[in-house]
Amino acid sequence: AAAAPTTTSATVGDAASAAAVSAVPMRKRTLADYRLGRTLGEGSYSTVVAAVDLSNRRDYAIKVLDKRHIIREKKVKYVNIEKNTLYKLDHPGVVKLYSTFQDSSSLYYVLELCQNGELLTYIKKLGSFDENCTRFYVAQILTAVEYVHSQGVIHRDLKPENILLDHRMYVKLTDFGTAKMLEPSEDGTESDRANSFVGTAEYVSPELLTEKAACKSSDLWALGCIIYQLLAGRPPFKGSNEYQTFQKIVKLEYTFPAGFPKTAMDLVSRLLVHDPNERLGANSTIDQLKQHPFFAGVEWSELWTQPAPRLM
Ligand code: ATP
Repeated sequence: AAAAPTTTSATVGDAASAAAVSAVPMRKRTLADYRLGRTLGEGSYSTVVAAVDLSNRRDYAIKVLDKRHIIREKKVKYVNIEKNTLYKLDHPGVVKLYSTFQDSSSLYYVLELCQNGELLTYIKKLGSFDENCTRFYVAQILTAVEYVHSQGVIHRDLKPENILLDHRMYVKLTDFGTAKMLEPSEDGTESDRANSFVGTAEYVSPELLTEKAACKSSDLWALGCIIYQLLAGRPPFKGSNEYQTFQKIVKLEYTFPAGFPKTAMDLVSRLLVHDPNERLGANSTIDQLKQHPFFAGVEWSELWTQPAPRLM
């Protein structure tokens, strides 16, 4: 889990005092530790603002959640899920949560700043991504999802609005409010299903619609929708209302626009498969997905150090 940036008044002189320092409880941060800047965005229960930590001049994004509103709308559970999940995750492709604090009216989450906002904004601005940019972004999203799954977490609401971009234009998954931590069952293995309906219509997997249960592979379905959207400029399943969208999903009713790259077409059609077990990369074999010809040329070990391709 990410350690909270903290300050203590003690100085470290020798091993003994170092031990003493580590025993001193870390001082809880307050709003006075930050200079707040521009508003980065608004959610249904929160406002996210840019902030500078006055002690180290580092940039952050602080998510401010209105306590009364959260309680009134019965969202306490989701707020806690987001906090606990983010604290547990530590990966370059997942937004880091550094610390949390509160006052009488609000909860504050000190998050890694993603200066370049949402992936969706770039899809809208450019219309679509070329194959090379799509490959890079999908590879980053895929390794972030692989990591999240390795920690026993299903995201359950992957979509271009929940994929943020940092100052290097690298991917950062966010919005873990509807994530599910799979509980280890009695035999020590994770139960692999999470019951309850969450998600966004266009990216919802068929198993969630028909069986009301999501699994890790449901995130792979969403990934298939995202790959399609990056290249086509629109999600594969989009009806005139939610019901129409759901109908298209359960009937697997989608077509590729002219000019859609062949290898990407193959990849998408191996992810948009009704049986979650039959999706490429399902059942702990995400490596199979990485070996698909669409990813030919991706240097997986350099994915988080190489420069992002220029979007065009
Ligand atoms: P909802 O709660 O309605 O689903 P949301 O999850 O987008 O909305 P927030 O997490 O509060 O709500 O985010 C609000 C906006 O702030 C989003 O549009 C997002 O683009 C932006 N944002 C969130 N986190 C960061 C961050 N770490 N860096 C930069 N911008 C962020």
